[in-house]
Amino acid sequence: MPECEKHQYILPKKSIVSEMIMREIHTQLHHGGRALTLSHLRRKYWVVSAHALVRRCINQCVTCRRLRAKAGEQKVADLATSRITPDEPPFTRVGVDFFGPFNVKQGRSLVKRYGVVFTCFAIRAVHLEVAHALDTDSCINALRRFIARRGQVGEIWSDNGTNLVATDRELKRSIQEWNDSKIRSEMLQVNVLFT
Ligand SMILES: [Zn+2]
Repeated sequence: MPECEKHQYILPKKSIVSEMIMREIHTQLHHGGRALTLSHLRRKYWVVSAHALVRRCINQCVTCRRLRAKAGEQKVADLATSRITPDEPPFTRVGVDFFGPFNVKQGRSLVKRYGVVFTCFAIRAVHLEVAHALDTDSCINALRRFIARRGQVGEIWSDNGTNLVATDRELKRSIQEWNDSKIRSEMLQVNVLFT
């Protein structure tokens, strides 16, 4: 056993010198753990209560913190059943929303028309319709045209205008004022759940 290992330099715990020596040894050991750093330190130095110091040094070491960091995880809820139910025809469960208005020429006058977008929850296919006005009947007509073209629909989800961007106040207000129950009963007659 070499002499310097028998009679180490005694260093205080709270000293910048002890800290620097500890950090140096830790780096030389390619960021080894506590026990390894301590055993190498004690070949030459005796730091009073070295455990606390080595723990602090390793905790503060940027490289070690980066290497031991947990990988980030996304917090995402499970997909809704309507999004992942297999073996159903496209447009079995759809979401519906309105957009517009667009100015359309009719004869010599300009009239407002609105777009209706249907999206399939499962495969994200899109179907577009035109609504002639922002009333319940136009909405029902658009829904019926959509069903006539795409086949039987199981569920229709509307957001009742709450998610619409507030740029077009008229559109938002009209959708909120819709007689939901009328649309719902109309859709129930063709076996569609309107939510
Ligand atoms: Zn380190």
